Amino acid sequence: MGLLMLACAVEAVVPEPASGLVQGLQIVGVGRVDLRIEQGQIVEVGPALEGDGEDLGGAWVVPGWIDSHVHLAYLDAAPELAEAGVVAAVDLAAPVDVFEVEGWPLEVLWAGPMITAPGGYPTQGWGSNGYGWQVSGVDEARAAVRALHEAGASLIKVPLTGSDELSDEELSAIAEEAHALGLRVAVHALSEEAAARGARAGFDVLAHTPTESLSEHTVQAWSDKAVVTTLGAFGGAASTVDNLRRLRAAGTTVLYGTDLGNTRTPAIDPREVELLLLAGLSVEDLLVAGTSAPASYWGLDRYGDLSVGKEASFLVLSGDPRQDSAALSAPSAVYRGGARWP
Ligand SMILES: [Zn+2]
Repeated sequence: MGLLMLACAVEAVVPEPASGLVQGLQIVGVGRVDLRIEQGQIVEVGPALEGDGEDLGGAWVVPGWIDSHVHLAYLDAAPELAEAGVVAAVDLAAPVDVFEVEGWPLEVLWAGPMITAPGGYPTQGWGSNGYGWQVSGVDEARAAVRALHEAGASLIKVPLTGSDELSDEELSAIAEEAHALGLRVAVHALSEEAAARGARAGFDVLAHTPTESLSEHTVQAWSDKAVVTTLGAFGGAASTVDNLRRLRAAGTTVLYGTDLGNTRTPAIDPREVELLLLAGLSVEDLLVAGTSAPASYWGLDRYGDLSVGKEASFLVLSGDPRQDSAALSAPSAVYRGGARWP
């Protein structure tokens, strides 16, 4: 898909930040509250705030959602994603000219092109059109990190697929250069060998839950790092689900992500939700993985919960998500910055 088309597609109309009172919201772990909102931001939270506002009558709400693995240049679905209540996303591979596109209806952290070896993933397949930045040698690897940072990248992505890979020296140089610039490195690593190699290189976050069963040593190597779930993207096999269960038990930070673009549901994906519950997350854990954990991990400080100082963006659900997790994927309304939308 050309970026010209993309530039047109992202002109979705997001409401202006609103002010006022929204009453009668039920929040999991918080209870029934009212929110006072000024210019899109929550300024007061309490069980019975003074004044007249819009009354949601005790409807269940969850904070604006964050998807930590999407491809919005690859699949033209940003407006639908935003309208389904996703307020921010981490895009883990796009051509470099995507940094020039403005007007996205949700906040996007871009990795830009993956840094890869000559002929490496994804340059010979789906990503042949600018989704990989081919480097050779430590100096070129470092220069690519710096150039992406300058262009506007918020993180770096590196693929390890078992063929045409960067050397250990190049991988370590990328990690070092990225960390010096305050950027994290996400690694595409589906096998035991790739996940082990990514940890040794000093990378920070698994772009996917690996699909091949991980050794205990590799699970431990990732225990103080993070993993983006994407259980549905590769079919939700038992080995993948089990890897996530073990990474989580070891202490790895779990970030909800779908790989939208390779998957095709621009919403809180019901298939991903189902697989996360199968991996042993409770609905409360799932809410953390889709709201407060990624907000804190990625520095998306306006989001994550509905407390004073945060943006008044949330999904209104048809019921308690702990009783009916499918409600997350079909909100009856979405609020952005205090305004009902669309
Ligand atoms: Zn992806």
